[in-house]
Amino acid sequence: MWNVAVSPACIGSGVCAGSAPGHFAIGADGRSHPPATPVDPDDAILGAAASCPMEAITVTDADTGTHVDPFI
Ligand code: SF4
Repeated sequence: MWNVAVSPACIGSGVCAGSAPGHFAIGADGRSHPPATPVDPDDAILGAAASCPMEAITVTDADTGTHVDPFI
């Protein structure tokens, strides 16, 4: 399982919600939030993390805490 987090650096561009709609949604605060975490590994999450203009998405292994996102 992976833990998915979005930092306050998020500017609400919606890129992640568009590329991985099951894993990110824009909240009332105008920022992206993962609807559920931890989640099963999904390459779409890593794609969203790689596409985020603010590098605001962090993905870690739920068991080990090891980063699996491209920004380590
Ligand atoms: S792609 Fe990044 S900046 Fe844009 S909504 Fe998602 S987390 Fe926020």
